[in-house]
Amino acid sequence: MQGLMQHGALTLDKIIDHAAQWHGGREVVTRSVEGPIVRTTYREIHDRAKRVSNLLLALGIKPGDRVGTLAWNTGRHIETWYGIMGIGAVCHTLNPRLFPEQIAWIADHGGDKVIFTDLTFLPIIAGIIPRLPNVEHVIVFTDRDHMPENFQLAGEAPHFKGLLCYEDLIAEQSADCVWGGFDEGTAAGLCYTSGTTGDPKGVMYSHRSNFLHTFITMQPDVMGLSQRDVILPVVPMFHANAWGVAFSAPATGAKIVMPGARMDGAAIHELLETEGVTFSAAVPTVWQMLLQHLESTNGTISTLKKVVIGGAACPETIIRAFQEKYGVEVVHAWGMTETSPVGTLSTMTDALEKLPYDQQMPYRLKQGRPPMGVELKLTDDDGKALPHDGKAFGHLKIRGPIIAAEYFRGAGGKILDEDGFFDTGDVATIDEMGFMQITDRAKDVVKSGGEWISTIEIENIAVGHPKAALAAVIGVPHPKWDERPILLVKLKEGETATKEEFLDFLQGKIAKWWMPDDVVFVDEIPLGATGKIDKKVIRQRMKDYVLPTAVAAAGAATLAAADGAAAPVLYAPEPASEEIGEPDEPVEEVAAEAEPVLEPAHEPEVVAARILASEAVATEAAEAEVSEPEPASEPVTAEALAASLPDPEPVAQAVAQDPEDVFPHAPLVEPDAKPLAPTPEAAFDAPPVFVAEEAPLAMPIQPGRKAKAAKPDKAASGGKGDWASPILLVAVLVAALPAVLIVGAALGARFGGLDKAIAYDLLTRDLAPRIAWLSLGTDVLALIVAMIGGIGRHWKRAVLALGMTAATLGVLLVATSLGGRAAPVGDVATDWKAPLAFSEAVMNARGEAAAPVLDDPSLPVGSELFAGRRVAEVNAETCPAARTLVLERSPADAYEAAKTAVQAKGLKLVTDDPIDGRLEAGGESFWFGMRDDLVIRVRPDTAGARVDIRSVARDAGGDLGRNCGRVSGILKVIGG
Ligand code: AMP
Repeated sequence: MQGLMQHGALTLDKIIDHAAQWHGGREVVTRSVEGPIVRTTYREIHDRAKRVSNLLLALGIKPGDRVGTLAWNTGRHIETWYGIMGIGAVCHTLNPRLFPEQIAWIADHGGDKVIFTDLTFLPIIAGIIPRLPNVEHVIVFTDRDHMPENFQLAGEAPHFKGLLCYEDLIAEQSADCVWGGFDEGTAAGLCYTSGTTGDPKGVMYSHRSNFLHTFITMQPDVMGLSQRDVILPVVPMFHANAWGVAFSAPATGAKIVMPGARMDGAAIHELLETEGVTFSAAVPTVWQMLLQHLESTNGTISTLKKVVIGGAACPETIIRAFQEKYGVEVVHAWGMTETSPVGTLSTMTDALEKLPYDQQMPYRLKQGRPPMGVELKLTDDDGKALPHDGKAFGHLKIRGPIIAAEYFRGAGGKILDEDGFFDTGDVATIDEMGFMQITDRAKDVVKSGGEWISTIEIENIAVGHPKAALAAVIGVPHPKWDERPILLVKLKEGETATKEEFLDFLQGKIAKWWMPDDVVFVDEIPLGATGKIDKKVIRQRMKDYVLPTAVAAAGAATLAAADGAAAPVLYAPEPASEEIGEPDEPVEEVAAEAEPVLEPAHEPEVVAARILASEAVATEAAEAEVSEPEPASEPVTAEALAASLPDPEPVAQAVAQDPEDVFPHAPLVEPDAKPLAPTPEAAFDAPPVFVAEEAPLAMPIQPGRKAKAAKPDKAASGGKGDWASPILLVAVLVAALPAVLIVGAALGARFGGLDKAIAYDLLTRDLAPRIAWLSLGTDVLALIVAMIGGIGRHWKRAVLALGMTAATLGVLLVATSLGGRAAPVGDVATDWKAPLAFSEAVMNARGEAAAPVLDDPSLPVGSELFAGRRVAEVNAETCPAARTLVLERSPADAYEAAKTAVQAKGLKLVTDDPIDGRLEAGGESFWFGMRDDLVIRVRPDTAGARVDIRSVARDAGGDLGRNCGRVSGILKVIGG
């Protein structure tokens, strides 16, 4: 039974429509890239966004096309976003902080057709355009007076039509443009992961996911935005959509202040004060800069009430400085590009708010609790749920309508587990109150003697040392413990320190065996493109570094081996402590002790009471836990390190030299896959690979008795010196091979249990057409051989071989042109808004290895022609007959007609439920024995009955029209 409410697709154009109509005069303020502060309103932004849409339409941009933006946070950038998204095109935000090679790779992989950019980034544009053959137009966010006069590309780019001036172009366009009207699942934005922990992968947001994310961010315990707020998003629009603020500010009608190109402490402070900012969001490094600026200038903050800090762990010093010196509340948040990005926030609960501030601090430092709409799960390596006790570390997994289901073009393959959770790659704990704490990236965690050490936790404490500006911890190889942590510290300007000072500072604050084996003072800690510590670069720079303790351990091991004694234990994990929050308990022990808790109930009040009660004990225990430091090794001075570290510049250059080096594991296609056509349109025109499943039936006749008729010839020749005959025989066999292969594969799969991937994908779709083309060569060779060896005697075989090849290729080509547009997907449905699901019985019959039945996935790269597009779109193009059938007859009649049609097709009924209007059946193709499952839904409609069908193959990959044929055929029969 369907609800009877209006549908109203959740598309993003409605946000700016709303802002223009109900908050039309509310200001959008920008520190422009040209310099001055520019003031505009949501009404004007809306008007100009429509002009941008008309401009894009005039440039030939169609729904689904990707439009790049390489730009700062400005009003122009906002209006361009809405202009792009309003017509169903996709806004691809490019991160200018990446190396130009990386930007070019990402823009190319994204398939961008037009790029909008700021004046600041023209040097990058000059370098990347020669590598972007699809980008004809670059539109510069400026007016005529500021357009550069001598813009030169860094290489040849015949496709490029020059720079265009944004203000000129939009002045020419009308502000009248129809927006929306498409499905809410339509792609709206594309953003690549930052790449600090691997290859960039495209996250493709939909209108629906961003719309829902907007609602989520507006909740009081999330960002709690209101029309009365003045919002300064320092977090860039190219970093996970500026955490959604470009949607949530207009949605609430808040004034928005865009910082443009200047994000230094002084510039941000000035905007905070002059514009009366009440809310802001940024990564910790930005706030560090602001706080340093305030400190050095004795500055004050008068209107700012709340800052959301995320993207990297927020140190206690920042939280305290904001709250204690300036009265600003910090909400620590965690999220990722893949989560739109809001995942969790450390908003205080009612119970925690009643605790003294210092007791709230451990919770404020955690990344917090998920808002409604986000589900979290913590598991061990085997996917088993871990207890929410604040101690057990595990893989953090997340699920919900704002979380990525797949990367663009199928990069990275399947990314969800069997329950639909996405593995964040983060390692975390969740406590009894439901507060999640990131302890590391899975790739950064230090694995010492089989136990995990959180690098983030050590960094957070170390950066609290009064002399530290930045701190980073990485694991380095150790002969006994596999890995041990070392701490890198960048000291504040003018400070000097010894290693012992930092080790002493950590003493008692972390478990003894977490204590870094060395402290290394560095001049710079490399930051990635989104302002986070780039551990990939640090590890690269430190790759030749050898721990002093590793040398000691190796020596000890040799000694021990020599006199048969055990090696000295330097770093055994301590026994489990009773202390609250002490992270020194091995994961296995905790997991083993705890009952398996699948849905832990977080009861903040109970836990808060427990904390208050145990506070005194905990404090005493903490004081008692002062342990002897490990004997310190030789201090490492900044000079010594400088000598041991390669120069930062050469490393950066080396990384930037060659995109292959930058992303060595990220080829656009698998090495042996067929190259992707540059665009889906071009792909349609490319010569198709193969045909329809029925092809074997139409294969040319095999050489049979007629071939035997050649024998007299041979006899006549006396079989003497007949060197040509064997060659011609080989040619005939090669010519016959494709047909034999296809028939053999089909029968083998059907009756002999031959694997479908081998029979269908490899032999039939791949190998047979290749051999057919190859046989054209052997036929020509045979003809030459026949002419030399005696055409009178050999012509028949030569012609037979050639004839067979021509017939095979002819059949292949005809079949291809008939079936060439068949979708490379075995999932055809008439309704993608409320997709039909299968019953448990069918899902069990499909088995675990079957292709997943998803709501509306994008096609993975392997699907070649349609890579990265939604199944719904592909269906609409390749199987237009798959449409909901509305009949002027009763649902009961329609159901009977559907059942008859299914039975007439010879399909086996699995579910026959006329009351629920649900019919399920299974089918098997004759050739290859490929299995499909079918579900039919019959519902009442104002006209009479409404029939929907979905047919899904069990095997992944192309079905060459089989499911479309089945759905269309059945609909035709039902419709009469
Ligand atoms: P990105 O997609 O570039 O925003 O990176 C997301 C990653 O940043 C997450 O998976 C975390 O590893 C890290 N991250 C984000 N927020 C936090 C936070 N508050 N504390 C620690 N790490 C964070």
